[in-house]
Amino acid sequence: MKTLVIGAGVLGLVTAWNLKKDGHEVTIVDKIGTYAGASHRSFAWINANHKLPESYHRLNAAGVEAHEDLQKELAAHGTWFHQLGCILSDSTSDAPVNYDARVQESTEFGYPVETIDRDRLLELEPEIDWPTDAALFFPKDGHLDNFTFGDLIRDLLAEAGVDIDVREVDNVESTSSATEVAFAEGGVESFDQVVIAAGAESGPIAQRSGLTLPVAPLDSPGPRTHSLLGITAPTEVALSRVVISDRINVRPRSDGSMFVQVPPVEHRTEEGESTELLDEIGTVMEESLQELFDTSIPVEEVIFSGRSFPEDGVSIVGYLDDAHRIYSLVTHSGMTLAPLLGRLVANELVGGKEELLEDFRPSRFRDGIVPEDTDNFIGRQ
Ligand SMILES: Cc1cc2nc3c(=O)[nH]c(=O)nc-3n(C[C@H](O)[C@H](O)[C@H](O)COP(=O)(O)OP(=O)(O)OC[C@H]3O[C@@H](n4cnc5c(N)ncnc54)[C@H](O)[C@@H]3O)c2cc1C
Repeated sequence: MKTLVIGAGVLGLVTAWNLKKDGHEVTIVDKIGTYAGASHRSFAWINANHKLPESYHRLNAAGVEAHEDLQKELAAHGTWFHQLGCILSDSTSDAPVNYDARVQESTEFGYPVETIDRDRLLELEPEIDWPTDAALFFPKDGHLDNFTFGDLIRDLLAEAGVDIDVREVDNVESTSSATEVAFAEGGVESFDQVVIAAGAESGPIAQRSGLTLPVAPLDSPGPRTHSLLGITAPTEVALSRVVISDRINVRPRSDGSMFVQVPPVEHRTEEGESTELLDEIGTVMEESLQELFDTSIPVEEVIFSGRSFPEDGVSIVGYLDDAHRIYSLVTHSGMTLAPLLGRLVANELVGGKEELLEDFRPSRFRDGIVPEDTDNFIGRQ
């Protein structure tokens, strides 16, 4: 099977690798290069935390397990998945109600959660000046060294003879016998099947191809599609795991720095990207870090980061065309889902049918888009 994967973000890379292992003749193209989109600027918290509806929770929980499996399978290549849990702390007066709701939901879904007290908080993260006496702990969650992971899969692909081909796809068209792929620089090539894994730009590729793939455009920024992601300087301050709260989200990075988000200023993405905004947000992040750790941690960079976000909030995975030659692989939470989806999609491309994907087919948009029902919860990524 001659298969083209469009996009070398985390989803395209892992899918191409699975396809290659399954014996496909794989080509992977990216208009810029490896990890040029959302994968380059992701918080990369691996979790199945408040993912609704239940079928989406199940998909994400299986995604967490797929990371565990892949880390074991490729352990000789290093460590990139740190399954050390996530602490969720709520400093608002609604905390008791919010905690109860989360515990009930996770328990119903069979996803482990513990209510923890101040002693346990200090045991888990001793350097944090905890603003609360109680929090929730999700032991199955973790964080991903997303660049280490992307580099590894890119290298494994290269070892198998597949390099990232830097080319931009304009459109795709399927016939009964092949898929014709037109490149922006000119030229048309034939493949048996094509996977569109171009993140936020998957929608425009589909549109130019006369297909429907509703992914939120990035040209009118706001907190649904964008985030302000800070990177601190490497620091001696110890942080082991993901901490999510109403005030600040932090997680460690492999070089001793941290990723930071400050939820109360996320709405400022609506102003659009500017140097002034990023400088101002950097200062706010430093103040929030000072409050959390009771010490100064400089923020070196703030990234105005766009997500690939299906219009109704959940994954769009499946064939877009009647001939079953053009397959969509677009999702938010792609860091959590990549190892799982890469495997499931590879199986579907040889005729398999994955029950876990049934609620996420592109055909659901035939009758229009039902917008995402959001409650702006703590930990929303
Ligand atoms: C700030 C932020 C925080 C996040 N936090 C989390 C989190 O905590 N946990 C989690 O699981 N997920 C998180 N995500 C989401 C996750 O990062 C994304 O879902 C994931 O990276 C998407 O990967 P992708 O491969 O689909 O797309 P991308 O990484 O965007 O890759 C798409 C690629 O396609 C290429 N491309 C585009 N158009 C074309 C074309 N016409 N021809 C050829 N190539 C093309 C681009 O150059 C790009 O390299 C976060 C995202 C952001 C932005």
